[in-house]
Amino acid sequence: MKVCRTIAEVRAELAPRRSGSIGLVPTMGALHGGHLSLLRAARAECDTVAMSLFVNPAQFGDERDLDAYPRDETRDLEVAAEAGVDLVFAPAADEMYPPGFQTWVEVTELGSILEGRFRPGHFRGVATVVLKLFTIVCPTHAYFGQKDAQQVEVIRRLIRDLALEIELRVLPIVRDADGLALSSRNALLSPGERERALALPRALSTKDPEAARALLAASNGVVVDYVERADFDPPVLAGAVRVGSTRLIDNVILEGDNA
Ligand code: AMP
Repeated sequence: MKVCRTIAEVRAELAPRRSGSIGLVPTMGALHGGHLSLLRAARAECDTVAMSLFVNPAQFGDERDLDAYPRDETRDLEVAAEAGVDLVFAPAADEMYPPGFQTWVEVTELGSILEGRFRPGHFRGVATVVLKLFTIVCPTHAYFGQKDAQQVEVIRRLIRDLALEIELRVLPIVRDADGLALSSRNALLSPGERERALALPRALSTKDPEAARALLAASNGVVVDYVERADFDPPVLAGAVRVGSTRLIDNVILEGDNA
């Protein structure tokens, strides 16, 4: 597995592989079973698998949130190698945002609702870094998790609006046995907080916004940002809560079979 720190290295490494399919799995690291499911799908479907490992400062509104984000590059590289990744792109921030950087991509409407309302600028950071990763890697396929349903919707719109020649692959949410969706942020929860966090998947499993809000309102130590039906493809009941200083998001599909 090749680990690249610069855009030039990625391009040189991928140049001889362009005749085959290239799958890109964008991640912020602290890899878990959710990431693994994306990597496995990419490995099964593509000739070359590239994974990016970049905690994107532009999608964090709060410096403390960015600083607290879990990082373990050594372990992530082991997990990626084990999953059969061919190339990891793990750039420093100034490789992605060189001095004077001022070009941003904004998916205006989709980026401003739900998560966008509580995290202004978040999807601008996501769309910009994902488009830049797309132009660096030029993947034929890109892999994202349904866990971040609004992110999927934003990327789908970006691909359509800018006529990118990339097949978007969306994989189902991977959960722990108790129902909590796997997330790098779960590592930040104390045992008590983790127990309280279970209120979110339990509430969403009602698939009813009113019932979900009522369940969460009755849960101690859980602050609700929103629980709303979102008319995505497929439609979901999406929620975001804060447990202590950790913010968690989750969703359930309301129609179709991709639960
Ligand atoms: P992140 O490292 O949190 O930016 O996530 C990288 C990718 O993994 C995104 O496409 C996420 O939607 C996806 N992902 C994160 N958690 C899960 C999960 N529990 N199940 C499925 N996909 C996930």
